[in-house]
Amino acid sequence: ASYLMWFRRDLRLKDNTAFSELTEIAKQASSKPDIKALFVVTPEQWLEQAMSLVQMDFIFRSLKTLAESLFNQLNIELHVLQTSDYHQCIDAIDSFCQQQNISHIASNYEYEVNELARDAALEKQLGQKGIVFNRYHDQCILPPKSVTTNEDTMYKVFTPFYRKWQSILDTGLVNIHPLEPVNNNKLNPDILTQILATIDNLYQQTLRLFLESPANQDKNTELLLQTAHQTYPAGENEAYKQLQQFLAEDVQQYDIARDQPALEATSQLSAYLSIGAISPRLCYLQAKQTAQAIYEANEHNLSKIDADLGAEQDIQRWISELAWRDFYRHVMVDRPDIVKGAAFNEVADQKVTWSYDLSDFEKWCKGLTGVPLVDAAMRCLNQTGFMHNRLRMVTAMFLTKDLFIDWRLGERYFMQNLIDGDFASNNGGWQWSASTGTDAAPYFRIMNPFSQAKTHDKETVFIKTWLPELKDIPTSVLHDEAKLRQALSKKGRFADVDYPQSMVEHKQARLYAIEQFKG
Ligand code: FAD
Repeated sequence: ASYLMWFRRDLRLKDNTAFSELTEIAKQASSKPDIKALFVVTPEQWLEQAMSLVQMDFIFRSLKTLAESLFNQLNIELHVLQTSDYHQCIDAIDSFCQQQNISHIASNYEYEVNELARDAALEKQLGQKGIVFNRYHDQCILPPKSVTTNEDTMYKVFTPFYRKWQSILDTGLVNIHPLEPVNNNKLNPDILTQILATIDNLYQQTLRLFLESPANQDKNTELLLQTAHQTYPAGENEAYKQLQQFLAEDVQQYDIARDQPALEATSQLSAYLSIGAISPRLCYLQAKQTAQAIYEANEHNLSKIDADLGAEQDIQRWISELAWRDFYRHVMVDRPDIVKGAAFNEVADQKVTWSYDLSDFEKWCKGLTGVPLVDAAMRCLNQTGFMHNRLRMVTAMFLTKDLFIDWRLGERYFMQNLIDGDFASNNGGWQWSASTGTDAAPYFRIMNPFSQAKTHDKETVFIKTWLPELKDIPTSVLHDEAKLRQALSKKGRFADVDYPQSMVEHKQARLYAIEQFKG
């Protein structure tokens, strides 16, 4: 019998829980174990779940590097199948297992509702044929349901969750899973050529389907993909390099610089984390090791103690962001109804009458609201597939509080455009901004996009990068709603600049939103 690793959102070998466990089971069961690997491309399902073009492309690029590593390092062949959706995927895997004489399958959990249902159905179908389908927790540093209150319930607020999360980790519970070669027989190099050709072929078919999708119209898709290829080289080695580089340099100013979009001072690891090209546990442990190394290097140097404390604080701050990722996954598993569109706080969500004005929504999508920071951020997203965290909050708040548009529309638009689209983190961020989420922004604390620009884009470097038409307008004007309105008015100095007047007045929009929430 053979053993099958079914890869999903865990496109790596290093610290891959299911893969490591499967090799262990196979080794114990046989002196000559045979491990195979599988990935199933499901284009229609991906589109239905609002996967972005850049993320689909990133998955295929990562799949090729995974196929090469499996082949070259471990003598394992990666089989790639295609089915339109999850329903068909079940029968396709069943037939594959019969053909290949598979006795065990291992996978890492995907916690969204459709994925859990697919796995449960497959487990049942395979079970009737005596095939075992094991799943493992891998996506989080600490698995969903493992960080709970003393009453064994899920935390509803981040800070106590984080404290408990950290206290569990301080006991040293997290380890990296080993990677051991198992298959002894060298494979014919032609097989790798065939695998890569199959992946290319499936990519071209999937690309055509994605390009036809309404979500991908009106975009310079060629430029978008080209930019993504440069910024996000595929593969776990690239992800690891990025982690090392970040920990060696930028992390030491993270606490201050993380909120300045123009500095690009964050790790940019989210794209890799979202498809599992790097392990979150590895990120955590390497960050802890860096903090320890800084501490030891400066232990006897009193003059460096301040710097030392600062660096530790920066690293801990970064670790807390990884904890937010775990938190939102815990929330999703605790409240599966949010995957189907429910608000975490349904009372707040139902109190307000959301707008569905599609013309307003389109202006927001295209970066034509007339609010410079919002428009710069949206154009950056549309052209690169990435948006800085601070700007995700600003644009999401603008959509939900200034335009009062249902957060679900924005949530879907982000998924359709982000390279790091991840249901739990995206939903968490949107519901935070809409004040319908767990530990959300209080409804009366509404970000002013002009003050946000003043604080986080002091010299308007970010704004002017993405809105070159505003290059001659002074920073002090761009930071001030009334001055900008005046400058762009018919009689104003910049009347000829091709940039729209702001579609709302923030002060009024804010009062309207607060009234609605007060109910
Ligand atoms: P760093 O600052 O280097 O942080 C390290 C890692 O921690 C990130 O890669 C990410 O995995 C995690 N992280 C950081 N901030 C958060 C957060 N607020 N919530 C959850 N995890 C976090 N993140 C996604 O990965 N996918 C999404 O689809 C997504 N949608 C978002 C939507 C909104 C409205 C908001 C406000 C936030 C969203 N985030 C999402 C969280 C955050 O913006 C990104 O993770 C972050 O900008 C990625 O950049 P980085 O890797 O350089 O982050």
